[in-house]
This record gives sequence, C-alpha cells and structure tokens, in this order.
Amino acid sequence: MKTKNANILIFIILGLGWGLSLFGGQSLLPTPAEEASYRQYTQNEAIAAFLSRLDALSPGLSVQVVGRTLPTDEYAARDIFLAILSQNAAASPEALDRAKPTVLFTAAQHGNEQSAKEAVLWILRDLAQGDLRPLLEKVNVLVMPQTNPYGNFMNIRANELGLDMNRDHIKLEAEGVRAIHRVFRAWMPEVTIDVHEKGDDYYRVSIGCVSNVNVGWDLQDFSRKVILAEVEKSLKKKNFTFHEYLVTEDLGVDTSSGAAYGRGEAGPREEMKRYSTTDINDGRNSLGIFETLSFIQEGASRHDLETLRDRTRWQYNGLRAFLESVAGHAAEVLKMVKDDRARLLERAAAPAENDVVHLRMKFARDPAQPELLLKRFEMVASPIRGVLKVDKKAGETLSAGDIAPYPEPPTVKVVDEVVKHWFPGVEPTLSVARPRGYIIRGDRLDIVETLLALGVEVGTFDKSGLVDAELYEVKDIVPAKLDYLAPEKIEVAKKALPTAVQKGDFYVACAQPAANLVPCLLEPQSEFGLIRYWMFKLVPEAGGVFPIFRVAGSPALPITPYKRWKS
Ligand SMILES: [Zn+2]
Repeated sequence: MKTKNANILIFIILGLGWGLSLFGGQSLLPTPAEEASYRQYTQNEAIAAFLSRLDALSPGLSVQVVGRTLPTDEYAARDIFLAILSQNAAASPEALDRAKPTVLFTAAQHGNEQSAKEAVLWILRDLAQGDLRPLLEKVNVLVMPQTNPYGNFMNIRANELGLDMNRDHIKLEAEGVRAIHRVFRAWMPEVTIDVHEKGDDYYRVSIGCVSNVNVGWDLQDFSRKVILAEVEKSLKKKNFTFHEYLVTEDLGVDTSSGAAYGRGEAGPREEMKRYSTTDINDGRNSLGIFETLSFIQEGASRHDLETLRDRTRWQYNGLRAFLESVAGHAAEVLKMVKDDRARLLERAAAPAENDVVHLRMKFARDPAQPELLLKRFEMVASPIRGVLKVDKKAGETLSAGDIAPYPEPPTVKVVDEVVKHWFPGVEPTLSVARPRGYIIRGDRLDIVETLLALGVEVGTFDKSGLVDAELYEVKDIVPAKLDYLAPEKIEVAKKALPTAVQKGDFYVACAQPAANLVPCLLEPQSEFGLIRYWMFKLVPEAGGVFPIFRVAGSPALPITPYKRWKS
C-alpha cells in the first residue's frame, strides 16, 4: 500500500513538472535532464528518445545520424546525431535557406563536461518548441548535442580511443571529430560554437573566439567587439558573470598542442594569461580557418551532480545570449563571412608574393594594455554565512535581518587580481607566400585520406610528366621529443626544380575553401603541420628533401578531382 501511494505521488510530481513547462499554451517536452530533475547525466539512449519525441512534435526540426562511435568492451557503438532547425524544416544542405546565416553548436567533445550537452539540448528544445522559435526567422541552427557518447557515459574527458577530441581536429582519429568535420563541410555554417566546461570560476560563462592569425581579422574583431560585448551585457542583466575566455599558463610555456607532457620540472614560474590556443587541432580554430565566426563557450563547473542544474543554467543563458546576438546581426554576419570566404578564394587563385600564410605565431603583450584586472575566487578557511547590511561593532547584537544572503559558494570569497603578464595579442613569427598548390606522392594515401576527411579537395594527375616545383632541402633538423609537437628546429632551403610527377600522384590546389588550411598542414616549417604527428612519418633527415612539393605556377598537366563523391 505504501509503495502504491509513493508511486502515485511520484506520478503527480512528474505530471506537475511537465505541466510547468508551458510556452504559448503548448506544453514543452522536458529535456532529459529536466525529466530526471538534474539527478543524473543524460546518456545517448535518452538523447535518441528525446530527439525522436521532439522530432514528432516540431515541424521545423529534422534529425540525422551523422556518425557512429567505435564499440568497446565496456560500451557499445553509439550514433552521433545532428539536429537541424529551420523555418522550412530543411533536411539537407541544399534545402537550407542560405539568405540566413547558419549556426552550428557542438557539445561534449570532452565527456566529463556534462553541462555542455544538457544546455545544448535545452537550447534545441526551446528553438523547436519554446520562446526561441522566432530566432529561426533570422538564423538556421545545427546542433550536435553529444559528440563523445563514450566519454559522457564514463564521465571522462577522452573518447573510446583514449583521445582528447579537442586536439584531434587535424588527424581526425575520433569518429566524433570526423562527424563534426563532415557536418561542417557539408553545411558550411557561417558561425560555430563548441561548448565545454572549465573549472569552478567566478566568471560563470566565458566565450572565446578564434586566435589563429590566418583567420580574417575582421571576424575576430567583430566576435570580440560585437558578439562577446552583447553576450556580456545580456548576462549582466540576468546577474550572470561573464568574461572572454582566457587561459592561464606558466610564463613562456605553451602546452596547448595536445602533446603528453610530463609534470613540469622547472619548478614554479610566474603565470601569464592569454587567449585560447592558436592551434588548428582544436574545434574552434579548425573551423575558423575556413573564415568562420568560430567560438568556444566554457561554463564554470565543479563537475558534480549537485551543481548540474546551476551550471546547465549558466551554459544555457550564455548560449542563448550568443544566439540572440548573432540573430540580431544576421545580415551583417552573413555578408562578412561570405565576403571573407570569397576574398580568400580570390587570393588563392592568383598567388602573389604578398599573399602569405602564417605558419608560426606567438602570444604578444600590448604596451597600451600592460595589465589586466580580473576577479577570482579565493578559498576561505571558515564558511561565509552572509553579507552585513548595516554597520556593526564588536559586542553589538546581530539579527537575521542584518544579514543578506551571500551570492557565492560559502567556501570562497571574490578577490581582485591584477594580471601582470597579460598577452592580449598574437603575432606571426614565420610566414610564407601561398603557392598555387602542393604535390603529394601517389603512395601517401594516409595523408590524402586525412585531407579528404577535413573537407580538403584533392586532385590526381592523369599523366606523368615534368612540373616546375619547389622542393625543400632540409639543412638542419632537431626532431620533437613528443608526438603532436613540431620539430624543435627545422631549417630548410627552397629550390625551384623541374620535377617528375607520376600518373596517380596527388595535387592539392590552394584555390579552394581550405586555402589557409592546406599550407598550414603541408609546409614543413608549420607549427600546425602534419609533420607534428608521428603517424604521418614526415620528419625528414638532415640533408634530405621534404616529401611534399610546392607548385608556384600552373602544374601544366591534366588533373582529375579525386573521390569527389560523398561517403
Ligand atoms: Zn573541454
């Protein structure tokens, strides 16, 4: 009898919860986290069921499976979903209304950053059914709510191969990352945002924009001055703290490559603050390099279930403010990205000495802005009870009405921090003229298949013959000690030589949307290059020749597009 009553009570509570989510008289489908009252992390099965229900209820939504993770002993293979939200219920890139900008949300590349996925599912529901629906008059939205189902299930950062997916955007070993790039190149969104969690932080929401200097400066400038400024303003109104996403690191060190560094041996150093990595193996820059307004959102997190509801709310409000800002500038966003992409193609089609690609860059100080003032949490020994509303002296009585609630966790206080080593700029340190294209030997399918997965267009020579090529002779080389790192030293001499090309060798033209990406990957001195990854075995010996050749003029041999069909 007792059990039956308890069941009825649970039924009534659930029913009430459902009934509370109302918009315009229509009841909203609860997100999986809402349905579980934020007492558990949403898993892939619940996402599949939620998307099925939402799809049945929402005329503007279509859902696709865009990838599948690999099975392991502990966790079977799972589908990776893409939800498409548009006024005309577009189910293919061709059907999308390109008079509006398209925004891609990707979430949970890091499996233990759980609120990213919960917040993106909430945004998705509100766009499909709730009060965000009117935004679809201005923008199309693509959502990949869970790109790492295994990591989510295990509540760990890595995927089923043990990979940090957000350092895998060049070699593309993770199925989830391959899916992101397939979706990106098929739909070519103008705006992307990748959702993550950082540690517990005074700033509940942080968003970072691209930092690789190959990406059009206008995009970075607009991201910061317009979008981030508007997000901050909007969050301030709702009492959420915001700051542009910054990374703290030991002064003079950059550990963002994804290399498996050991523990620092140099001892404590002074700390610096800078924008997030310039590397293109992370989600944000790897899509930004196609002249995209690309972002990362980092929500504050203690990574426990107790705070799941709060941290999901912070993430949701950040993403909501972000999307509202983009939609408010829809025409401008569309034109800016279109123009930048067209200009890049034009430059790459007519190579000139002054049209350069930046292969190495460093974070730089700004004399006009030597310091940065921030707020941060500091742990306190004794928990804070509240904030005094009145002046009191020792010995006076204190009543409940004299104390206002303390807005932060009771174990921390908010303190000012002056950042002395503030690096708000990025400067190129090595740049080369963009060639017309590159020659890759016919037996290097490993390289070509990676390029294809990145959406790079590759051709194949129909005939053998001589091509005026530029070869790199390696004068001096000190290989890197770790995978993912560029050689410690590499000096090359460029030599123009008529070079024999075989039928079946590959040709990668720069005149394509990946015009910035191609030289970054294929130049031997690039700190972003394929040479960094041991799997490609591209590190040459001193006195040898780098096996990928540049072509400055026209290759003057017939070339056919290689494998143009879709998988
Ligand atoms: Zn992350």
